[in-house]
Amino acid sequence: MTPTTRTFAEVTEQNPCAGCPAPCCRMQLVPYPPPRTAFDIDHVRYMLLFPGTEFIISTGGDWSVLSWRTCSLLDSEHCTCTVHGTVEQPRICASYNAHNCWYRRNFVTDTPQDIYRLNLERFDAWVEALRFDEHGALVMAPCFEDAQALVRPIPIAPHFTHPGGIVLEQDIRVARQHVAA
Ligand code: SF4
Ligand code: SF4
Repeated sequence: MTPTTRTFAEVTEQNPCAGCPAPCCRMQLVPYPPPRTAFDIDHVRYMLLFPGTEFIISTGGDWSVLSWRTCSLLDSEHCTCTVHGTVEQPRICASYNAHNCWYRRNFVTDTPQDIYRLNLERFDAWVEALRFDEHGALVMAPCFEDAQALVRPIPIAPHFTHPGGIVLEQDIRVARQHVAA
């Protein structure tokens, strides 16, 4: 099959956010110190007990805590910013290069390239692969690729689809009930 190609003008004139469900505007990300001990891991689990919280781990081993909460300036129905192009839009949003979008690459997909995500269910599988020394220091953990493969089969929500779809936690719960029935 011949791959689809586009002209230079088509690439540069296209709105890179067209059809995107805008995960960028539905989360807050804060760097988190990578856990080194069993007590650090316990704190990760504690954080995950709060609904809407998950962790993301990058290929480089950086950790962030992610809170799913939607910006009050997002038009959720149309997935657009209500202050786009005005002085009210924060600079961090206005200057973001959506043509090379980290959020879309990692959240509007079943196969994120740069991260893996941990919710409580994924944490329970991941933590089984950890080993500690007699002082409780973390001495063994799966590498990025192994951790990604370990958690991938375990559903996580919200889950975004293109164009413009969002699968929420309650949708996954309903799907699980159908499987169990
Ligand atoms: S393409 Fe990126 S910046 Fe644009 S709406 Fe989607 S997630 Fe946000
Ligand atoms: S200000 Fe606009 S672009 Fe920035 S997070 Fe809110 S809705 Fe998204």
